[in-house]
Amino acid sequence: MSIKTDHSFKKISLAIAVVASVLSMTGCGKEEQAEKTAESAVTTVTAPMAANVTTDRLIAADADPSNWMSTGRTYSEQRFSPLEAINADNVAELGLDWYFDFPTNRGIEATPIVVDGVMYVSGSWSMVFALDAKTGEMLWQYDPQVPPEWAANACCDVVNRGVAVWEGKVFVGTLDGRLVAINAKDGSLAWETMTIDQSKPYTITGAPRIVKGKVMIGNGGAEYGVRGYVSAYDTDSGEMAWRFYTVPGKAEEPFENPVLAKAAETWTGEWWAYGGGGTVWDSMAYDPELDLLYIGVGNGSPWDPAIRSPEGGDNLFLSSIVAIKPDTGEYVWHYQTTPAEAWDYTATQHMILADLNIDGNDRKVIMQAPKNGFFYVIDRETGKLLSAENYTTVTWASHIDLETGRPVELDGARYGDGEVHVVSPPGLGAHSWHPMSYSPDTGYVYIPVQEASFPYQQDVDFETSTERWHTGVNMEIAGLPENDKEIRDMVNPMIKGHIAAWDPIAQKEVWRVQFPNLWNGGMLSTAGNLLFQGNADAEFAAYNATDGARLWSFDAQTGIVAAPITYTVDGEQYIAVAAGWGGVGALATGAILTDAKGAINRSRVLVYKLGAEGQLPDPVPVKRELPTPPVLEASPEELAAGHALFSRHCSMCHGDRAVSASSVPDLRYMAPQTHEHWNDIVIEGVLNKRGMVGFASRITPEESSLIHGYVTKRAHDVVNGND
Ligand code: CA
Repeated sequence: MSIKTDHSFKKISLAIAVVASVLSMTGCGKEEQAEKTAESAVTTVTAPMAANVTTDRLIAADADPSNWMSTGRTYSEQRFSPLEAINADNVAELGLDWYFDFPTNRGIEATPIVVDGVMYVSGSWSMVFALDAKTGEMLWQYDPQVPPEWAANACCDVVNRGVAVWEGKVFVGTLDGRLVAINAKDGSLAWETMTIDQSKPYTITGAPRIVKGKVMIGNGGAEYGVRGYVSAYDTDSGEMAWRFYTVPGKAEEPFENPVLAKAAETWTGEWWAYGGGGTVWDSMAYDPELDLLYIGVGNGSPWDPAIRSPEGGDNLFLSSIVAIKPDTGEYVWHYQTTPAEAWDYTATQHMILADLNIDGNDRKVIMQAPKNGFFYVIDRETGKLLSAENYTTVTWASHIDLETGRPVELDGARYGDGEVHVVSPPGLGAHSWHPMSYSPDTGYVYIPVQEASFPYQQDVDFETSTERWHTGVNMEIAGLPENDKEIRDMVNPMIKGHIAAWDPIAQKEVWRVQFPNLWNGGMLSTAGNLLFQGNADAEFAAYNATDGARLWSFDAQTGIVAAPITYTVDGEQYIAVAAGWGGVGALATGAILTDAKGAINRSRVLVYKLGAEGQLPDPVPVKRELPTPPVLEASPEELAAGHALFSRHCSMCHGDRAVSASSVPDLRYMAPQTHEHWNDIVIEGVLNKRGMVGFASRITPEESSLIHGYVTKRAHDVVNGND
C-alpha cells in the first residue's frame, strides 16, 4: 500500500495530526506519517468545523453526493448515489486504493459516514474511528470500553451498524446501552448518557438518527425479555427529550401515554412480566416534509404469543412500522406487519422513503421487506397499506389482504400444539438488517434475500428469564441435534441467499443473483448503473443495476455483511465497504455455513477507485492443532442431552454443532488445558473479561458436564475425520 503524498485534509488541527501519528493502525508506515504530521502542523491555522452536518445540509443531501452524511445517505434512506464517474462501462478498472485494519476481528456491520473528506466508521465493541477518506490515515479512534462480559447479553454479536454525525459531533450507541457523543475534531468525549436500565440485558447495535438537533436511539434485547423503546436526546447536552415505548407496561400502573392505553387493549394476561419485546434495534427514517419519524419495531418476547399474551390479541406495536413526531415522540400512525407475532418476525428492517407513481397517482410511500417475507408499500402520510407481495418463499401466510391490511395465515404456521412446524422464513429473516437500496433510475429495490426455514416447536420447559434466550420455542430442536436428522434434512437444503431486484410498483422480482449461502451484505446502487454488494463468500462485487450482470469482483478475504457507500474527495469517486464476517448469521449457523469462505475473518475498511492497483496482504491461514481431546466417556444418551443443552445455551455464539464460522473460538479445537478448566470457565466465569461469562446462574454443574461431553465428542469427530 503506497503512501499518498497529496493531503486532502491539510487543515486538520494539530491535535488530530498528533493523535493520528500515535494511533495510526493503517497499513501505512509510521515514520512517513510522522513526517506528514509535522508538515500539516505548520499549515494548520483555521480548522473548518469537522462533521459539519446540519438540518439544511442533511435535507439537501441528495444534491451533495460527494458526502455520505447519514447512514442511509439521505433522510429517505435510499442508499442510492447520483455519482457516476465509476459506472458500468469502466467498473472493470476499479481497484483497491487503501484499506484500514480494525484492531479487532469480530463482526463488522457499519455503514461508514463521510463528511468533507473524513470517514467516521464504527467497528466491533462500539469503537469509533475517524479516517482520512482519501488516504485511510487514522485521525483518531474512540474506544467506549464496553465491558466484554456484556457480550453475553447480545443475541447477535458485538457489532455496531454505524455512527451519526451532527454539528461537530459523532454519535454512537454502545453495546452496553450508552449513547456517546464524541468531538469530531479530535475524538475526545463530549458527553455520554445511559439510555437503558443496566439491570436488564439491553444492547445497542443500531446507528443513531438525527433530526433537528435530537439524536434518536433504540436498543435490542427482545431475545432476552426486555421492553422496547426509542429515545431522543439533545445533541448538545445529552439530555433526554422524549421516550416512546413500543409495548405497554404494567396494566395497573399509568401508561406513559394515551396510545399505550389503546395498545394495551391488544394484549392479554400479564405481558409485562415477560418484557414483551418490540425493540427498535435498527431501522429508522425521517420525512422532513411531513415531519414524521418512522421507526421499525421488533419481535415479541417471548416469541410464543401463547405465553406473553395467552388470551390472544395483536400485541401492538410488535412487528410494526410506527410514525411519530420527532419533536415530541407523539404517536401518529402505525402499520403492523405481523399481528400476534410468533416467529421472530421483526419489522426493524431497512425502510426506504420514495415517491412512486402508482396507478397514475403520485404517492409518498415507505417501503420495507421485513423478516416475514412480504414486501410492503405503505402510504407514509397515513400508514395505509398500498400493496404487499411475498418476495421469497413464505409458508406462514398466503397473502396480505389489502382491505384489512392483515396477513391471511396458513394452517400449520403456529406451533402451539407441541408438534414441530417447519416455517419459512426463519427467525433469521427472509431479509435481516442488511440494508437494501432503491435506485430511482432503474426503479428497483435491491434486497439481500435469505432462503431458509426454521423448525418451531413450543418449549414446554419455558421459564421467563433475562439470562438466556427467551423465546418460548424449543431451541434444542432449533439446534438440530443429529438425532433429529429428519428435521435437519427438511431445513438444510433450502439454506441459501440471493439479490432480488424488486419492482415495488409491479410488486415482482425482475431478476436475481443467486448465492450458495445466506448472510450476504447490504446494498449500494449508483447513477453509474451499478449495484455493489459484499457477500458471505468473501467477495466484494459490482453488478449492472439494470440486468444484474456481474461486472467486477474483488477477493476481500473475509465475508462481508455491511453495506457499501460511495463519495468523492478532490473530485475523485471512491467506493468503500467495511468488511468483517460476523453477526448472528455467522455466529449461530456454525456447521450450516461451513462452505462460506468467510470463516477466517480479518476486519477492514476497503476503499476502491478507478485505476488503483492496491493489494491486500496475504491472508493468514488459520493454523489449528489437531485437538487432543480427553477420553470420551459420555453415553449416547448423555451426548444427546449435552447437544440439546449446547443448542439452548451455547450455539448462539459458538455455532450450530460447535462449529464456529466466526472469530468466536471453535470449541472442537479446545486445548487440553481448556478441557481441564472447563468448569472454571463455564461455571465460574474465569474468562469473563474476554466475553465468556460464567453460566452458574443458568446451568447446573451436571448440565455443564453434559455439554462438555458433547463438545468432547465433537473434538473426537475432528480427530476421526468424520466431522
Ligand atoms: Ca429477534
